[in-house]
Amino acid sequence: MRLTTRTNLAARVLMACAANPDRLIRTAEIAGICNSSAHHVAVVVQRLHAEGYLSTLRGRSGGLRLARQADQVSIGAVFRLFEADIPFAECFDTENNTCPLTETCRLRGYVQRAVEAFYHELDMVTLEDLVRGNCGLIDLLAMQPEPPARCIAESARQ
Ligand code: SF4
Repeated sequence: MRLTTRTNLAARVLMACAANPDRLIRTAEIAGICNSSAHHVAVVVQRLHAEGYLSTLRGRSGGLRLARQADQVSIGAVFRLFEADIPFAECFDTENNTCPLTETCRLRGYVQRAVEAFYHELDMVTLEDLVRGNCGLIDLLAMQPEPPARCIAESARQ
């Protein structure tokens, strides 16, 4: 299983915003710190904004920030949002499926359950879980000149 680039980028954008709660950040800043193109980040930001995860302010001093508390952002929901239109196997795409084994394939059910288990694990994780107390991550994502909120080290929760 391999996540699409946009899903991974969405997670990075959200983590960057969560690590800089006291300021607006620009798409170009996120692109630089996440090692991505501004265009790819802009596409992901547009989707996250449309779905209510980010708020944006236009203009010279504009930028974006989280539109929800980090503990209200389910990583599973974000992953589903960006992966939903990409069927995991051909037979999951009812309109375009051409697999001749579909009617008798046992693998199909196992794969379906494995994908559900994957999302179930991520449903229990919030953006807050990824960022809070993660001083190394916050240091990496700190946007200048404003310093990020002071980070207090905390053992990662399981
Ligand atoms: S082989 Fe089975 S799991 Fe794979 S696409 Fe065909 S029906 Fe689906």
